[in-house]
Amino acid sequence: MNEYDTNRIYDLVSNINYYKTDIKKEANCVVLNTCHIREKATEKVYDEIGRIKKDFKNVKKPLVVISGCVAQAESNEMIKREPYIDMVIGPQSYHKITDLILNYERKKEKINETEFDVVGKFDVLKDVSNVQNKISSYVTIQEGCDKFCHFCVVPYTRGPEYSRPFEQIINETEKLVSNGAKEIILLGQNVNAYNYENKYKLSSIIKALNKINNLKRIRFTTSHPSDMSNDLIDCYKDCEKLMPLLHLPIQSGSDKILKLMNRKHGYKYYISVIEKLKKARKDIKISSDFIVGYPGETELDFNSTLNLIENIGFINSYSFIFSPRPGTPASTKKLNSKKKNEERLKQLQSVLENFQRNNNKKYLEKNCEVLVENKLDNQEKYFGRTQHMIPVIFEADDCKTGDLVNVKITSFNQKNLFGIFKNNNKVKAA
Ligand code: SAM
Ligand code: SF4
Repeated sequence: MNEYDTNRIYDLVSNINYYKTDIKKEANCVVLNTCHIREKATEKVYDEIGRIKKDFKNVKKPLVVISGCVAQAESNEMIKREPYIDMVIGPQSYHKITDLILNYERKKEKINETEFDVVGKFDVLKDVSNVQNKISSYVTIQEGCDKFCHFCVVPYTRGPEYSRPFEQIINETEKLVSNGAKEIILLGQNVNAYNYENKYKLSSIIKALNKINNLKRIRFTTSHPSDMSNDLIDCYKDCEKLMPLLHLPIQSGSDKILKLMNRKHGYKYYISVIEKLKKARKDIKISSDFIVGYPGETELDFNSTLNLIENIGFINSYSFIFSPRPGTPASTKKLNSKKKNEERLKQLQSVLENFQRNNNKKYLEKNCEVLVENKLDNQEKYFGRTQHMIPVIFEADDCKTGDLVNVKITSFNQKNLFGIFKNNNKVKAA
């Protein structure tokens, strides 16, 4: 979502003649768009400011803006601690950035803009063209969270659940597709909680997108297990452009830990969702997020997580050691041993990596459908992704970005597939 927000910030500031530059020292303004989800996020910002200070030592100081969730969480504290910072802007206020920059240019006074104004934000953004021209483009449809998992900072930094108006989402997608996007990834902290005026759900958006000519693939992330409603699951049966990979974080395989985390779903329920998904689409694969070392996690709890992984066989996942986030209920709990946590993370990641490698191995000598995203620099090779989002690097005699092609897989490693494409097996576009 930060990538989406960053692109929107570029779209907005182009209205006051500020443009992206790859030459850092030439910048008049530096924006650090920050994430607060784990570990020392705030300290990383100050480290980065140290680097910026060095870069601009002998040239004019740029306007320094901290945006995103660290700005929201730390607010005025940042300006007090580091006078090099000129402005902090929360994730729900960045639509005001052009006015704020103009104000700063006039008055040279420090600015703190951390109101939750999500409705206002999308009202402004709907009138500013999203000029991304990437083959795979993001569209934010939902923000915030009402679930309050005990470890998570999102409800405090992104605010309560908000769903963007349905028409805005369809318009933005249509524009992106007319700009050349072939894949749309719908975004939300709780994307499947999308509910606009009790009339439109995530399934309504997927069905509408499925009808857009020239759009080839649809994905959405991140989903919460308890919002996997039947109408959404049915989309895997009815919408051929919806890709058969679902990122469905479970965090732990132990019901005791899930309860302590306030996850509002248990192990059995999670398995029942996966079973329904498999009925709807046979080739569906699942990826997930795991937290190890949550306060109170015993060897037995950890083994339940390993068992869950063995049972489901996730093809790609993210795993983290629990990181206490200021202000969350879990942040005051007694931490498990650091060494033990590191051992568990290593063990869990090695099981996950084995699954990933074994899954990749299954593609050897087979053809698989790849959406070509770009040509690699200085090489006659292309980069794309399979339906299950596995990166593929391949040689091709003739193909262009945005094509769906059948690549013959000739080798693999844990993360990537490698192959070759010959033009006589081009896939018919969806
Ligand atoms: N809303 C999604 C869900 O509940 O399934 C997850 C979105 S959260 C922004 C992304 C991931 O960050 C979580 O699934 C979790 O694994 C991880 N995460 C969040 N807070 C964390 C913390 N305090 N320590 C470690 N990992 C954390
Ligand atoms: Fe955070 Fe996801 Fe839980 Fe919401 S549902 S509090 S975003 S982990």
